[in-house]
Amino acid sequence: PKYSKEDVMRMAKDENVMFIRLQFTDIFGVLKNVAITVKELEKALNNEIMFDGSSIEGFVRIEESDMYLRPDPSSFVIFPWGQNNGKEARLICDTYNPDGTPFIGCPRNVLKKALAEAAQMGYEMSVGPECEFFLFLTDAEGKPTLNTHDKAGYFDLAPVDLGEDARRDMCLTLQQMGFEIEASHHEGAPGQHEIDFKYDDALMTADKIMTFKMVVRTVAKRHGLHATFMPKPIYGISGSGMHTNQSLSKNGKNIFDDPSGVLGLSQEAYYYMGGLMKHAKGITAITNPTVNSYKRLVTGYEAPLYIAWSPKNRSPLIRVPAKRGSATRLELRNPDPTANPYLALAVMLKAGLDGIRNKIQPPPPVDKNIFDMNQDVRAEYAIESLPQNLEDAICEMEKDPLIREALGEHIYTKYVEAKKLEWDEYKTKVSLWEIERYISEF
Ligand code: GLU
Ligand code: MG
Ligand code: MG
Repeated sequence: PKYSKEDVMRMAKDENVMFIRLQFTDIFGVLKNVAITVKELEKALNNEIMFDGSSIEGFVRIEESDMYLRPDPSSFVIFPWGQNNGKEARLICDTYNPDGTPFIGCPRNVLKKALAEAAQMGYEMSVGPECEFFLFLTDAEGKPTLNTHDKAGYFDLAPVDLGEDARRDMCLTLQQMGFEIEASHHEGAPGQHEIDFKYDDALMTADKIMTFKMVVRTVAKRHGLHATFMPKPIYGISGSGMHTNQSLSKNGKNIFDDPSGVLGLSQEAYYYMGGLMKHAKGITAITNPTVNSYKRLVTGYEAPLYIAWSPKNRSPLIRVPAKRGSATRLELRNPDPTANPYLALAVMLKAGLDGIRNKIQPPPPVDKNIFDMNQDVRAEYAIESLPQNLEDAICEMEKDPLIREALGEHIYTKYVEAKKLEWDEYKTKVSLWEIERYISEF
């Protein structure tokens, strides 16, 4: 829905809202809140609420710490929980400098910039994400365990565990908050679930991904479970991805669709795919931002490792789902749910637009299972792989000027700096694997 300031004021009053959370997302994809009482709502809607940007990691230095929040009235939602002491609502905000210019370190502004560039070419981006997650039992202290107590498998119907109840509750709560749930199922691994909501324009979808993760965690907790979007919590079983279905439209018409094109895809769709493939290595540090992300991108679990595409098989980076017409889209399969959705969608879009602008032709599809090919066969097909760890991914990102341009200097610099630190910390830590492997042997 599109709301005006007046709509928001009225709804808050009619529904007896007491508190409003002003939400924004930091560079690393963490949702931040500034809570205000309903008395300050008008002030907030007039963009007069200030916060200390220096307390947010990667935002600004202490000397320039005053930042302003600009709520997007259309993002007004009343939380369907915790209403004993008055209802609570939220507004998603952009962050602005004191001089009224958009703050370049705000991820939402980065996505808006990329979308504006697409709009200049006449395009709008639609995105449908597939967020996977695990539900784990908590221990006596409420800390997450790795125990699922779940024997169900992919698409199992029987409500065999707590997880099923929790997931049903998540779907209902999301629906109450305006989500259109398209599908929800048990995923491949024990304790693993997926809930898909209807595609929307890219900015709305990025906002929804942030809300989705918050709702899933909140509802899980109510059921005594811990929800995690960590990409690979357990070795030896599937990890959690966030496959990203994307398409462009022009004047409301999906331009990836062309019944007369090869496989029913338009030339633009192929160029967009060419752009995604060309920049695949460079964008991976954004779509797969954690040390753990790379434990998922390995052979054998339907997560991609190789830079290839296919209309059917699930091992490559890009799949073309069978639907055509207005549902024609490309499914990029490497992103995982630890990605900052604003930055991730911005770099995907920029890569796709580069493909269209520079007429980048993708290689022919690979319909064989790439995981079954040996190195020589892959070389013959010229199939390259995604970066294998966070360090390589950062290295690839540094080699690709498009990513720097998409993120802007501020975020780019902070991001690279933080991710290098993350890698260094991981690299020097002694892991359980090493202890198990070496302590007795040597
Ligand atoms: N869990 C798989 C992944 O890590 C995806 C399974 C599926 O195709 O939905 O990407
Ligand atoms: Mg899935
Ligand atoms: Mg999928």
